[in-house]
Amino acid sequence: MNPRNRKQRPVTVFDGHTHHVALCRGFRDGLPMFGWGEGPSTLLTESQLSSVGLRRNGQDPVALLVFRHHKPYRREETTELFSVERAAPKRGTLAQRRAKVQEALRVRRICVECRQDVGYYVPTSTRVCWQCESGTWEVAA
Ligand SMILES: [Zn+2]
Repeated sequence: MNPRNRKQRPVTVFDGHTHHVALCRGFRDGLPMFGWGEGPSTLLTESQLSSVGLRRNGQDPVALLVFRHHKPYRREETTELFSVERAAPKRGTLAQRRAKVQEALRVRRICVECRQDVGYYVPTSTRVCWQCESGTWEVAA
């Protein structure tokens, strides 16, 4: 396919730091659409941001990436592109995020009555362990 047939046109894209002039394939929802490698290199998809330890940081997409799946019957699809300049580091390392999950799970094992980690998830409706629920602590004591 002759690239000239795509009717590309120049567009100025602001990535939060620099104005880039690039050839886009058109517009959708007011956003310029680029093919692989055609847009400014400072624009990344959400998964590309994630792979380099960044998150989109609440920003709106600045452009769209047009791509075609490897299988020929799949239609052309678009995904949003975000500015690296406006992205932020992910909160915490993987180990820190795992620790947060572990803590969240530990809290779910703590009875609100006896304040003990009972080793199983207390019912979310009562947050009370079975011993407190049935009063067997008193029997045992
Ligand atoms: Zn209890």
